[in-house]
Amino acid sequence: MSLPRRLLAGPQAVRVSIVLGLLAPLGMLVVSGFMLYEMRRDMWQRAEETSRSLLEVVERDIARNIEITDLALQGLIAKVENPAVAGAPEDLRRLVLFDRVVTADGFGILVLFDEHGTGILNSRYPSGAGGTFEDRDYFQVHRRDPDAGLYVSKPYLSRLSGAYTVAFSRRIAKPDGSFGGVAVATLKLSHFTQILEKLDLGRDSSINLVREDGIRIVRFPYDVRDVGSDLSAMPNFQRALRERTGSFADWAARDRVHRLFTFKPVGSLPLLLALGVSTQEIEAGWRAKALVIGGTLLALFCVALLLALLCGRELRRRGAVEAELARLSLTDGLTGLPNRRRFDGALDAAWREAARSGRPLSLLIVDADHFKRINDRHGHAVGDEVLRGLARCLSAAIHRPHDLVCRIGGEEFALLLPDTDEEGAARVAERLRAGVATLAVEQAGIPAGAVTVSVGLAPSACADTPADLYRAADAALYEAKAAGRDRVCRAPDRPVPTHLRLVASSA
Ligand code: GH3
Ligand code: MG
Ligand code: MG
Repeated sequence: MSLPRRLLAGPQAVRVSIVLGLLAPLGMLVVSGFMLYEMRRDMWQRAEETSRSLLEVVERDIARNIEITDLALQGLIAKVENPAVAGAPEDLRRLVLFDRVVTADGFGILVLFDEHGTGILNSRYPSGAGGTFEDRDYFQVHRRDPDAGLYVSKPYLSRLSGAYTVAFSRRIAKPDGSFGGVAVATLKLSHFTQILEKLDLGRDSSINLVREDGIRIVRFPYDVRDVGSDLSAMPNFQRALRERTGSFADWAARDRVHRLFTFKPVGSLPLLLALGVSTQEIEAGWRAKALVIGGTLLALFCVALLLALLCGRELRRRGAVEAELARLSLTDGLTGLPNRRRFDGALDAAWREAARSGRPLSLLIVDADHFKRINDRHGHAVGDEVLRGLARCLSAAIHRPHDLVCRIGGEEFALLLPDTDEEGAARVAERLRAGVATLAVEQAGIPAGAVTVSVGLAPSACADTPADLYRAADAALYEAKAAGRDRVCRAPDRPVPTHLRLVASSA
């Protein structure tokens, strides 16, 4: 394998390894990114399903309890409106009206109010306890609206038990249909918190029971400040109210925690139950995996990048070495002129171009006269200095960018003159001779005119091939030497005379 090829093999392999080195982690990055994305989607789906089923269990529990409460209320009203019960003594009425289920501890109390808001019968406290309840929202609602049905009150602090309570109430009608009072069943908020605290919600998660008008009944984890607070202006509440059933993730206004909210109405009541699970809690497992995978890939990518940078530097270094070697392989070290190898390539190229364009091409071969004597007389170093001076003179004799001066041997130079006919070449030859006539090496005592050259001139018209052209110029040079040196001789037109060929090959 040639030197340039061997040099090229290296950088090419480096280039491939750079590309592969970057592509491999990049591919892994894409695949892992996709996997992490899928994992995150699955995790969110699972979280939504879990939230939904948890919410369903709680909702069913609460709805069932409220349903039992309402049944008790309806039973109570049916009995109260019965004239036989209404006429019975209070002890008997109490026995008939309040059965054991509804007087169980969790269910709070059952109360009958007359049309003035005074408790006329109470499942736990003496009749008339607590004074008038005319101020309570449930009393006012039923007095105002005969069709209110089951009304869920705002949470309030019970005057009787001292505990936060919510009341479920229905209207009692007199025989003529007019307002005859209200039947109320109460549930302490602790009843709800007992249901909710059994759930394992996880850190920063919450569950809210809210009336449709935005009044919060209870929030778990319990905080008394949440009881009865108004959420109607909160965008999250408005969205849940609009969508009725579903889920979305958003920031909670209360504590600026990002949560996945899942919500649904409680039975057919004007109540919404909303479960909020902390997004951070949901994503904790996924985040840990993403961190490990992402960190590993990032490290891999950094290593690949570093390798690519090192390879790139190596590539550039080798490229520079390669370019310098290529330049050196075509340059003469002493004079800095293009060397014989470069000349051979340039001659072939110029010949082809001349043949293609039909333009003339001329070649001058220049040889220093009696150069051996200069060496012998002044030493090799001075000889070198003269050669450098000759190179300068020859370079000064050409003006066109495509003209080329090369050192093709010891004290032998060639001038390749594209697009130049015989007359033009003769002018260049005389110009260079005139230049050489001024060449002097003063420190060595070589005056101007001491160095002369002989020139062989061959126009392309006298040759069939580049080798022919060279042979013809060389033969002309031999002729110039034979004729006494310090002159220009032109090669004869084709065919080159046999004696010139013989002399040229024996020189
Ligand atoms: P002629 O006029 O017939 O060309 O005679 P000449 O002495 O120039 O030719 P010849 O071929 O006899 O000698 C050429 C000399 O050039 C021989 C060699 O020592 C010298 N020479 C060749 N290359 C270099 C070089 O690089 N440096 C120096 N100083 N001398 C060189
Ligand atoms: Mg020579
Ligand atoms: Mg010579």
